[in-house]
Parts: sequence; C-alpha cells; structure tokens
Amino acid sequence: MNTNPSNIMALTSTTSNKKETVCIFGTGDFGRALGYKMIQSGYSVVFGSRQLQPSSLIPKDAEVLSHTEAAQKATIIIIAIPRQHYNFLIPLAEILHGKVLVDVSNNLKLNQYSQSNAEYLAQLIPGAKVVKAFNTVSAWALQSGALDASRQVFVCGDDEKAKQMVMDIVRAVGLTPLDRGSLLAAQEIENYPLQLFPMWKFPIFLSLGLTAFFFFYSLIRDVIYPYVYENQDFSFFIAISIPNRICPIVALSLLALVYLPGVLAAIIQLYRGTKYSRFPDWLDKWMLCRKQLGLVALAFAFLHVLYTFVIPIRYYVRWKLNSLILSQALNNRTDPFINTYSWLNDSYLALGILGFFLFVLLGITSLPSVSNSVNWREFRFVQSKLGYLTLILCTAHTLIYGERLFLNASSYRWYLPNACMLSLIVPCIVLVVKFVLVFPCLDKPLTQIRQGWERNPRHSE
Ligand code: NAP
Repeated sequence: MNTNPSNIMALTSTTSNKKETVCIFGTGDFGRALGYKMIQSGYSVVFGSRQLQPSSLIPKDAEVLSHTEAAQKATIIIIAIPRQHYNFLIPLAEILHGKVLVDVSNNLKLNQYSQSNAEYLAQLIPGAKVVKAFNTVSAWALQSGALDASRQVFVCGDDEKAKQMVMDIVRAVGLTPLDRGSLLAAQEIENYPLQLFPMWKFPIFLSLGLTAFFFFYSLIRDVIYPYVYENQDFSFFIAISIPNRICPIVALSLLALVYLPGVLAAIIQLYRGTKYSRFPDWLDKWMLCRKQLGLVALAFAFLHVLYTFVIPIRYYVRWKLNSLILSQALNNRTDPFINTYSWLNDSYLALGILGFFLFVLLGITSLPSVSNSVNWREFRFVQSKLGYLTLILCTAHTLIYGERLFLNASSYRWYLPNACMLSLIVPCIVLVVKFVLVFPCLDKPLTQIRQGWERNPRHSE
C-alpha cells in the first residue's frame, strides 16, 4: 500500500534546485562519511539509528532519529548497514513501502551469497524501490576527498525514476554515476570491489614468469658457465647486465603476445568461415587484457632504456675499454674501421630508438583520456598499424643485435643459445603469420567474414 504522498512528491522533485532530505540508516563509518558529503552538497540529512544520544562523530547539521521517524522524513533511504543485519528492516516494511532504498553494502568474499545483497533487500521489502549504488567508493575516499582513483559509482535498479534520483545524488557529491542496468547487475557490482586487479593478473604473472625464466637462463649461461669453464667470477652481472638482458626480452615477448591473439582469432575465423561463433574462453580473456599486456611490456622497455643509459659509467665497461686501448697502444696497432659494423651498430640503435618512441606513443594512446578523444578508426590505426610497426622495429632491433650470434657456435653455451635468440621466436611467428594474412586471397575473405558474411550460413532463407 503506497499511502505516503511525499514519495510521489519527491519522485518528481529531482528537477528542482532545492535538494531534498535524504535518510541514512546507520551511523557507522560509511553512513557518516556519505552524510558529511551530502550535507556539503546541500542535502538535508537525517540518520536513522539505534543510538539516539548525541555523538561528536555525527555531522552537526544532521538529525539523528529512530529508524521509523527518520524513514518518514525522506523518500530516499540509504541503508549503510551490513547485510547480516537487514532483518531489522522487516518490521519497518510498511513505512518503507514506495521508498527508494539504496543498498551500499559489500561482502567479504566473491559470490558470498547466491543472491546479491540488493536483491535480498528487495525481497525483504517488496514494496520498496531498491537501487544498488556507492559500494565501490570507500568511506575514507569520501572523507578525504581523494576521489580521483574511485570516482565511478556503478548504479543499478529496476525502477528507472528511483535510479535517476540516486544518480542525481551521486553527481551532486562529485562522483560519476555509471548506469549498469537492472538489479540483476547487483551481484557483479558487489563483486567488483573484491576483485584484485582482474585484468592485470595474467600480464603480471606472465611477465614475472618470463622474468624468472630468463633470469635463471642468463644466470646459467653468463655467470655459472664462465665460472665452471674459465674460473671467472661474473656474479656482478646480476646487478645490471642480466636485468638489461631480461628487460628487452620480456618487453618484446609481451609486445608480440599483444598481437598473437588477434592473429589466432583471424585464423579461427577463416577456418570456421564465420564471426558468429564464439572464440574459446582463453582467447577471449587473452584479448581482453591486451592493453595491460602492452603497458607491462612498455614498463620493461622503459627499464631497458634506463639500464642502457648507465652502461658507459659502469666500472666493468670502462675497465674493458681502457684495457683495449692500452693493449692496442702496447702492441702499436689499431683496429681497422669497418664500415659494415658501423652501419649495423647505428641501425641497431636507430631501430631501438624509433621502436621505443612508437611504444611510448602506443602507451599514451591507450590512456582513457587520450583514447576517448579519438574515433574508433583512429584508435585502430594507432593500436593496430603503429602497433605492428613497433613490433617490426623492435624485432629488427633485436635481430641486428643477435645477428652475429646466430651462426656462431661459441655463442652456444651448454647448447643453450643466447637469450635474445629465444625472445625472437614469438615476434617472428606473429609477424610471419600476419604477413601471410595480408595476402589478398586470405585478407579478402577475412574482411568479408568480419563484415558478417558466412561461408555456410546457418539461417539461410
Ligand atoms: P560500520 O562502521 O560497522 O557501521 C555499521 C552500522 O550499522 C553501525 O554503525 C550501526 O549503526 C548499524 N548496525 C549495526 N548492527 C545493526 C543491527 N543489528 N541493526 C541495525 N543497525 C545495525 O560499517 P560501515 O563501514 O559503515 O559499512 C556500512 C555498510 O556500507 C556495509 O554494508 C558496507 O559493506 C558498506 N560499505 C562500506 C564502505 C566503507 O568504506 N566502510 C565502503 C562501501 C560500502 P547505528 O549504531 O547507528 O544503528
């Protein structure tokens, strides 16, 4: 039974400048923080609480009443109380009828309950209009004003008007509402704050795995091997030489892994002759974290640049150079100037510089503020065309560096090739397959498939 006329009034009053009274159930950390913020934004706030004695923690402009009295004063009631205490609302069902109940609650574990907290609340108080919001903002962020990292507030609910009213509050307190649809989305919204870098997990674990692999690989080849066979202690390589070998290898491998799923997807689409059947789950997930893979790759490339800058000031490098000059002076000879070497060296450096420049450009265009300002075609041009160009330049940079190692038997230690040769495997596969896919006999059907053409249409008339 909807007997409260204030409900109808408030539901239509969102367009007026005067801000309405909002009730908050619960004077805990979150209720108080949100209360402060709303008072600052011009709302009248009334708390519904079990404790009616005045407390210095509660905003002084707010009223504290019993739940029943507070609920009668407002149309929007924010339930800043943990889910396990929601039962206390059952006796208030009649007063809450027709009200907008905002569920801000979070759980301690992913999918802790089979039903989301917001749906549970809607089931407890069937006459209320339940809206899920604010759960992704912390009390601390609300109080400290450090909202840059968490400005977005996901909002969902079955009643459009109620949802709009809550989104107005979200905007008024300086946050950005994101409409996620009906209350069915509540479970996902409740799981959101419990996830730990979901898109970054795979790239970070992969880069750590590659780093560990290439570290031990280089340790065996560059430190243990000379120690065993030549009794030379190169353990200091662990500080700079080995990291400076690992960083470009991991960067190049990860960059290639950004483009590998696209190539695999193209092969699958060509094989199936349609774009309307789903990719395997692992490929979907891989494609979704390509941006993160690219950014981790960029971080490794950046480290490589930093390590490279310090090479001339290293004691070992200066000692080697001085010894060479001294031995040439003592033997009264100089090495001839070999033009080919100087071409190779300059090309290697030039490719590295250009590759890194484009890599940085790719990283910048993946920032939301930049990618939002370009259209889809421009974004694709940068991420695909410039991306492949970056991969070509970086692969060529490594190829020239490793050129003298490939056919040189002494560069194999314990039958292990130089690590940079291993790093070329994935990029070369990606580039060769991409090159093959560009041939018109494959590119044409692929473009048609991507435009919706099917080799064996399932729903032919
Ligand atoms: P809190 O500090 O523990 O406060 C919870 C409040 O709930 C208490 O102060 C109390 O208010 C009320 N309460 C406790 N037991 C009750 C019962 N049996 N019956 C009726 N009321 C009861 O918790 P909080 O950190 O403010 O969190 C409140 C809600 O906001 C939770 O659902 C949480 O998931 C959500 N949330 C919190 C944050 C955050 O950063 N803290 C962020 C997002 C979402 P009275 O003493 O006034 O009755």
